[in-house]
Parts: sequence; structure tokens; C-alpha cells
Amino acid sequence: MHNTERFLDPNIPDELSVSIRPKTLADFIGHEGLKQNLSVFISGAKNRGEAMDHVLLYGPPGLGKTTLAHIVANELGTNFRATSAPMLTKQGDLAAILTSLEPMDVLFIDEIHRLPTAIEEVLYSAMEDFKLDIMLGEGPSAKSVRIDLPPFTLVGATTRTGLLSNPLRDRFGIDLRLSFYSPEDLAKIITRSANILGTTIDLDGALMLAKSARGTPRIANRLLKRARDFAAALNKKDISADTIKTTLFQLHIDGAGLDEIDREYLNTIIKHYAGGPVGIENIAAALSEPADTIEDVIEPYLMQLGLVQRTPRGRIATAAGYKHLGLEK
Ligand code: ADP
Repeated sequence: MHNTERFLDPNIPDELSVSIRPKTLADFIGHEGLKQNLSVFISGAKNRGEAMDHVLLYGPPGLGKTTLAHIVANELGTNFRATSAPMLTKQGDLAAILTSLEPMDVLFIDEIHRLPTAIEEVLYSAMEDFKLDIMLGEGPSAKSVRIDLPPFTLVGATTRTGLLSNPLRDRFGIDLRLSFYSPEDLAKIITRSANILGTTIDLDGALMLAKSARGTPRIANRLLKRARDFAAALNKKDISADTIKTTLFQLHIDGAGLDEIDREYLNTIIKHYAGGPVGIENIAAALSEPADTIEDVIEPYLMQLGLVQRTPRGRIATAAGYKHLGLEK
């Protein structure tokens, strides 16, 4: 592990995120097609007076999965309950949550690919028939009981659809994929957040920050807050282009939004493994980072920029990857 906190890690929880988090579909910036679909599903469910179909949200961290789950509950006018798969260790943990739901509630389960199989199995009948099958007691006197649940909407979020079992995946009626945001959409998010935070940044400045935000709203907001801190330290109310340059420089973020560990990742493939192919475990060992983090956090954005490729034989640095480090392939 690196001992300094990695600024660009989209898994670091947001400070102050509550006030910045959009609460309605109209405030959720970008992903127009997805929003249109979702609004049809929401109004359909409301008109029929039924619970909305279960939703699976898929995408890298920080792209708005939790935000969308909140928005669904808000737009449906129902309660929002949230948990995360690593917090559910026994069937009883999930049963306690399910039996306390009110009709039409939204239950959000983050990192749903990490549910233990035994707990996942409880979800099957809960999702399909709104029934809870649980075993009471142990050994020969154990018996299975079936409890009725109120109709509810499960919103599951995952960074990896590949790790989801088929029976679970099949039980979601709505499948939504969030991809990285364009710099223009991120600039809109930054401008909106700046307003809420009571600071100003012009469009060029917002775009400059946006381009360094790895396509990720959470990082865009974090960069904005850091730029605001620098502006305050310089006794300025507005965030100027100079302040932004200082911010990015101090955080060692380059023009493509890559930080030291991204460059170290590229460097490892290129210098230690002649450009690849190299297996993820070797890269993980060289960087002292868990393979999971590399796959979830570092690689998706580098692949999006076309700097690396994942192949069955391992990772390969592309010509653009070499060029990014000022090298030739
Ligand atoms: P995830 O659950 O995918 O990790 P979150 O929903 O927690 O991501 O989003 C991270 C932060 O980014 C939120 O606090 C929210 O303020 C902001 N955000 C995400 N998506 C959008 C969006 N489309 N428009 C505006 N802000 C967004």
C-alpha cells in the first residue's frame, strides 16, 4: 500500500457530499438516455401503484450509482434504505432489513457482487415473489418458514458485472450501465457544485479541472474543493486558471488526469516487462497495490484513454501509453 492517500482514488468517501449530491433526475447531469429510461420506469411504477422493477447499476466507483439509487427513491416518493454487501454476513442480517421495509421502499445494496452465496439465495425469492424463506433452529428440529414481504425495489450496485452470479443478475428487470463522463458533462457538474459551495469558476477553468477528473464526478468534485482551498489560501474568492494549475501541480496530476501511481503502473509494464503482456498479479506486486484496486480503479480509465489493453495473456502498453511517458514503442 502507498502510505500517502491517493488523491484520485474514487473510492475515498466524499466530504460534504450530501449537499452536492443531486436529489432529482433533473439535477443528475449527463447520461441522458439512461435518465429517460429511468424516468419512464419510475412514472410507470407510480401510475400503477406498484413497486418499481429491481435495478442493477453497473460502473466504476464515483460515477453516481448511490446518487441514482437515492434519486429513484426520491422520485418514487418512498423511503431509501441502504446497506453494503460486506456488512451482510449472516442470512439474519438481510432478513432483518427485508422485514423492516415498508411497501414500495427502495433498498440499496452496494457492492452486491460481494454477497456470500447463502445470503444471495435469500434474495432470490425476496426479489421474485416478495417472500422470505428462512430456516428456524438447527439440526433435525430445524424448519423452514416463509414470510411475506412488502413489495419493494432492490437497487444493486456493482463495479463488476462479471462477478455477479447468473441467477442474481437474471432477477433484475432493469440493467443500467454508467460509463465515464465527458469533460463537458464534468464541467457542468463542477459548475453546479461550485454554485452550491458558494464559489465561482469560469467555464475554461471548469473544463481544465474536468479533464483531470478521470471521467468521474466524485473526483471532479474533490478537485473543485481542493482548488477552492488553494484559492482561499491565496485570499481569492474565485477559482482562477492559475489556482487550478497550482492545484493540479501540487497533486502531481498531469494534463490527462493521471497521477503518480497511474504513471508508475505504465512504467512498470513498459520498463520492467518490455511493454507486456504482463499478468495483473505481477503488476500488483510491483506497485504494492491489491490487484482488485488496480482492476477497479486504475485500469478502467487508462483503458478508456487507450494507454493499455487487457488481453488474455496480460496487460499491454499501447503506443499511446509509451507516448504518455515520452517514450517510443
Ligand atoms: P458511486 O455510488 O457510483 O460510487 P456516487 O453516487 O456516490 O458514486 O457519486 C459520487 C459523487 O459524485 C456524489 O456525491 C455526487 O455528488 C456526484 N455525482 C455523481 N454523479 C453525478 C451526476 N450525474 N451529476 C452530478 N453529480 C454527480
